Amino acid sequence: MPKELLLQVSPEIAANESLLRDHLSKQIKVSPKEIQHVSILKRSIDARQKAIKMNLKVLIYLQGEPFQETKLELPIYKDVSNAQEVIVVGAGPAGLFAALQLIELGLKPIVLERGKDVRGRRRDLKAINREHIVNGDSNYCFGEGGAGTYSDGKLYTRSKKRGDVTRILELLVAFGASDDILVEAHPHIGTNKLPKIIEDIREKIIEFGGQVLFDTRVTDILLKNNEVEGIVTQNGDKIHANKLILATGHSARDIFELLDKKKILIEAKPFALGVRAEHSQELIDSIQYSCDYRGEHLPPAPYSIVKQVNGRGMYSFCMCPGGVIAPCATSPGEVVTNGWSPSKRDQSTANSGIVVELKLEDFKPFAKFGALAGMEFQKSIEQKAWHLAGQTQKAPAQRMIDFTQNKVSADIPKTSYVPGTTSVEMGQVFPGFLSQIMRQGFQEFGKSMRGYLTNEAILHAPESRTSSPVRIPRDPMTLEHLQIKGLYPCGEGAGYAGGIISAAIDGEKCALMIAESLK
Ligand code: FAD
Repeated sequence: MPKELLLQVSPEIAANESLLRDHLSKQIKVSPKEIQHVSILKRSIDARQKAIKMNLKVLIYLQGEPFQETKLELPIYKDVSNAQEVIVVGAGPAGLFAALQLIELGLKPIVLERGKDVRGRRRDLKAINREHIVNGDSNYCFGEGGAGTYSDGKLYTRSKKRGDVTRILELLVAFGASDDILVEAHPHIGTNKLPKIIEDIREKIIEFGGQVLFDTRVTDILLKNNEVEGIVTQNGDKIHANKLILATGHSARDIFELLDKKKILIEAKPFALGVRAEHSQELIDSIQYSCDYRGEHLPPAPYSIVKQVNGRGMYSFCMCPGGVIAPCATSPGEVVTNGWSPSKRDQSTANSGIVVELKLEDFKPFAKFGALAGMEFQKSIEQKAWHLAGQTQKAPAQRMIDFTQNKVSADIPKTSYVPGTTSVEMGQVFPGFLSQIMRQGFQEFGKSMRGYLTNEAILHAPESRTSSPVRIPRDPMTLEHLQIKGLYPCGEGAGYAGGIISAAIDGEKCALMIAESLK
């Protein structure tokens, strides 16, 4: 029987197979030659002590013990070319994993995506970064793979159901992701690796008889007696089916407006909003690892921080070590920031959303918009940022201490945000209560993380697409919309996920419930 062991070792030992074998051989009192194979089951960093340690859970196979290298295989998919059709709107993680699950269940997905395939998207990302041109159908949020394609690809979630999370991670590995994601406590894929995986998922959907249509924006839902009959695209084409998974993400404002106009029940939902802060990665390493130099065996340090300020949570969101701040607007006339990292997280800067939780009462000035009040609040801040920074994709920016002191920064150094920045007093971008909380919150952060509150850190505004400002209510058991039969609100846009993994899990769940309803 292989021996399972929990141990703490130096980062150097954890990174070197032969050193690890030597270490283990001493621990279990055998010679290194007697160890046939070591499988790492879990890996995490313990940075609480001055000398940083790696926590490992390993399985040691001695010579003679049966051991076989296992390769994760894809599920057995069936050809669904002639099966019952299900429309899936949106090719983000929710839509793509719904489509795969439908095929596994013998149903035919027709995936409709307003944006381009992952390769086609790249040109439009360049245009936002370099020419300040925002394509309303193809950008950092819209297009194949959805909002997370050009991201840090963090793959952890607060979901308590480990089984669901493991299934999605294993599928990603079977589609080509490194199997390290099954082992790391905080796995991530990276912008350079995700697109190929997404392409392979699409190829699989098509290979087994599903359809994937790009440049296909859904503009209407066909209903009869409160039951789905199909959809209409921007060209007026109709596609008929009586099961529809709506997985359009948190930025599909036209979809929220459509539902509202058609009197399909939606609700305003609180979300969080703030800024994206950028420090040098070296500074974050020195704070997190209590060292001057990280060394070659530790990864660029992440951070996670939360404080209560005036009764509200202010916290780091979607932190990208060794990453870059990206222009994530989905319409001309607005500025939105978010972040991404390459798989090695080897950029010199660290960025994170720093956001404050909003309450429904904050949307009161927009009450006339009803269920869209939160969305209009969000839009107004993004548009203000655009005006203040010069009506391009430049982001309003301020040095961190200057912000806490209400002082316009004399200059803003070059940051990783390619479209550039304009020095403004951030207080002008946000309602007074929000700026006040953030000013106080950054001072609190500085007390917990010594060195974090520095004028070398640059704030960019706004970080506004943290989660959906709208919920599309559904029956918790059947996952069908409360009023409309055959409509399955899904993923982050509908208010049932936050991040790549939870969106993928929700996509699978909706597919399962559709199959269940057809039994
Ligand atoms: P989305 O991914 O938003 O997908 C919705 C899709 O629907 C889009 O492709 C869109 O084009 C399409 N669509 C919208 N309207 C229509 C329509 N009318 N017709 C047809 N198609 C339509 N999450 C993480 O877990 N880890 C990270 O590291 C991470 N980093 C991020 C970095 C960036 C820059 C961004 C923008 C997001 C990041 N996220 C990250 C969040 C993550 O991407 C989302 O939580 C996740 O993608 C939500 O999945 P979804 O399928 O519900 O929606």
